[in-house]
Amino acid sequence: MTAAAIRKTLRTPAALAEARLVGGDRLQALQKVAARYAVTITPTLAGLIDPADPNDPIARQFVPDPRELDIQPEEDRDPIGDDAHSPIEGVVHRYPDRVLLKLVNACAVYCRFCFRREMVGPGRGGLVPAALAGAIDYIRADPQIWEIILTGGDPLVLSARRLQEVVASLTAIDHVKVIRVHTRLPVAAPERITRALVQALRAKGNATFVVLHVNHPRELTRQAKNACARFVDAGIPMLSQSVLLRGVNDDAETLGALMRALVECRIKPYYLHHADLAPGTAHLRTRIAEGQALMRRLHGRYSGLCQPTYVLDIPGGYGKSPIGPTYLSEDGTVIEDFNGRCHVYAATGSGAEKNTAVSNS
Ligand code: SF4
Repeated sequence: MTAAAIRKTLRTPAALAEARLVGGDRLQALQKVAARYAVTITPTLAGLIDPADPNDPIARQFVPDPRELDIQPEEDRDPIGDDAHSPIEGVVHRYPDRVLLKLVNACAVYCRFCFRREMVGPGRGGLVPAALAGAIDYIRADPQIWEIILTGGDPLVLSARRLQEVVASLTAIDHVKVIRVHTRLPVAAPERITRALVQALRAKGNATFVVLHVNHPRELTRQAKNACARFVDAGIPMLSQSVLLRGVNDDAETLGALMRALVECRIKPYYLHHADLAPGTAHLRTRIAEGQALMRRLHGRYSGLCQPTYVLDIPGGYGKSPIGPTYLSEDGTVIEDFNGRCHVYAATGSGAEKNTAVSNS
């Protein structure tokens, strides 16, 4: 059997071996990994893997690896500190104007670098109706909450009917103006982006954004592109988020090709995440200096439309910060151009006068 002929979802190391995505000699080691972290690969993604390539960038994202059981001291089961900011089940309230609403703990595919890998998996459930009602009450009670980010897991694994009910409950709250949906489904199982599901996300009177998680240009198959077009054609703008991963997209050509492919699909690259300190993921993490060097290459060679913001989710739950690179010297007098040449910037403005006044006082 070739990978391209895979027709069923693969959920165990034995199924991966049968599909020839892993060697039988690795089964025992991988069963230990699968006992701890969920394994699921959809036929669409399995079909993209080249079994003859030991460094296949799609396999690195989804096929389990024995190194996942090597936990580093700095790694954490909750690397971005969701729990510290969860006032009520299903809600993470880190920033004043927005909350995460974690509807479900399941995904169509399980990524080996997932920052919530200790929380997600088949059978991990999601918000039962009473908990969802509590979460909606929490949102209703805080007029500062302007945006709701539907996440999980992958919220789009829910039925169109349930999603429509959630969206209707949220849009009935006057101060909620924006609903943002984080998903991997258009690349993992594009056939599940049905017309009914797209319509369910359209929020009357509110803006809905869909943010696609995608890390390698090969994930943007023709079917995935068509799935994304169904959102955009229905008036739902799309953004993307990608995770910088060693051996997947840590070279400028791959990253640039991904960003260009996204823009061609009418998806604006939004975030490039530095990989979080999730347990057992050190073999997939790069150094921040490498990420900054890649961002410089992107800045120098690709359209402004293709530039995501490189961010780090600060361990402990302190939120995301952009991590450069920077082009302006600390004192604001030297600026670097896209070819790496430095230029003196000598202009003064009213801000400079104000700063002088402050320092003289
Ligand atoms: S789709 Fe998202 S939540 Fe699900 S395993 Fe991948 S990174 Fe984690």
